[in-house]
Amino acid sequence: MKKNIGIVGSGEAGIQLAYALRNEFDITVIHSLSADEIRNGRIMSTQVHFGSTRKRENRFNMPKWENDNLLKSIHITIGNQKLFAGMLKEPASSVDQRLYFSNCMKDLKDKGVTFRHERIENEQLEGLIDEYDLMIDCSGKTGPLFPFPTEEELSPFKMPQRKCVVGYFLGVKPNHPVGVNVTVLPEIGEMFEIPAITEYGPVTILFIMAMPDRDLDVFKGIKSAQEFTNQMKNVTQRFFPDIHKRIDQENFALSDERGFLQNAINPVIRKPYVTFNHKLVVGCGDSVFLNDPITGQGCNLSSYCVEQLSDTLVDYKHSPWNHKLGEEYWNRTKSFVREVTEWTNAMTQPLPQHIVQLLLKGAEDQMVADEVAEWFADPRKAHEAFFQKTTS
Ligand SMILES: Cc1cc2nc3c(=O)[nH]c(=O)nc-3n(C[C@H](O)[C@H](O)[C@H](O)COP(=O)(O)OP(=O)(O)OC[C@H]3O[C@@H](n4cnc5c(N)ncnc54)[C@H](O)[C@@H]3O)c2cc1C
Repeated sequence: MKKNIGIVGSGEAGIQLAYALRNEFDITVIHSLSADEIRNGRIMSTQVHFGSTRKRENRFNMPKWENDNLLKSIHITIGNQKLFAGMLKEPASSVDQRLYFSNCMKDLKDKGVTFRHERIENEQLEGLIDEYDLMIDCSGKTGPLFPFPTEEELSPFKMPQRKCVVGYFLGVKPNHPVGVNVTVLPEIGEMFEIPAITEYGPVTILFIMAMPDRDLDVFKGIKSAQEFTNQMKNVTQRFFPDIHKRIDQENFALSDERGFLQNAINPVIRKPYVTFNHKLVVGCGDSVFLNDPITGQGCNLSSYCVEQLSDTLVDYKHSPWNHKLGEEYWNRTKSFVREVTEWTNAMTQPLPQHIVQLLLKGAEDQMVADEVAEWFADPRKAHEAFFQKTTS
């Protein structure tokens, strides 16, 4: 008989795990929102999936997305100085999570995965533990549900370093070569411009990372789509003239009434396993590895950890599922989690001088520009550049 696994959460981690594990185990996904509620709900992320994540999606036989607008480059601007467009070795993509999750949930159901539509409360955890051979907590940034211990060394912040302001817009002429456009405005924040696909067709995501109480932090209290759009127009005009001049004033609008969000993430890294009621529980995704979105690594780190966890579970298929398995999973993920986290945390602080010099060098040397673009696809390279200073 196959072992049975309960996964709480139908987000990036929960869904990828369900695909990765469904052939080997009986999978139940317990989710607070139905596929239709997700599809018709508010946007959740900007979700750039880099090459390695897209390869894993293929490995797990996940649905493929028609996308003529793959992201092939990373553009870097500091202040009002456009430095370069570095080319990615493999293209990335951004598919609205509302579309991605709801589609995958329906597909997984057709493929025999069980779905339980229920918001799990703390009082239910003991009962839940008894129902499954293993519970995996993929409850995301609102989690975790289980008491995974904090890794203090990797969790230096007591409060969010940025306010995230995101809108999915129509009426912005894309940048060329198509890619993610990063503008760093020292001491006030950043703007990420990301072409994406949605149910409403191609959009341009405008994602402001505002340092609290500084000049970009001007969306407080905005609740309506129209007010949000007007404020985004003002902000691009004042701070991001290159984007502003590509805006078609007449057609600039959100893709839909729920195509915007505001939130702030307090990053916390936790050890991804715990013994609860004498049984192993593991965590995957933001519930245990929660970083600031500034480097766009959350989905990619979740996907990396999904692969490590699913491979560990298959290796331990005929062995007891106890803390030894948990420790094995943590050993496999620890160094990558540390590299992503340390780089991401460093990006929320003033850029070190050697990194500023490297970025300036990228303006004159395409090879350096391409290396910098690759930081986002392979954060180990970014970590090396930031902390070992070996990239020249
Ligand atoms: C503004 C912003 C921009 C971002 N941009 C990027 C980017 O460009 N690239 C990137 O890689 N990452 C990005 N991220 C991060 C990325 O979105 C997350 O890291 C990723 O979605 C995490 O996946 P997850 O499965 O852990 O959590 P989620 O995708 O949030 O899924 C959690 C799921 O658990 C469910 N759930 C929660 N509690 C319960 C409960 N009690 N009972 C049942 N179900 C429950 C939720 O409904 C949800 O379905 C961004 C994040 C933000 C906030």
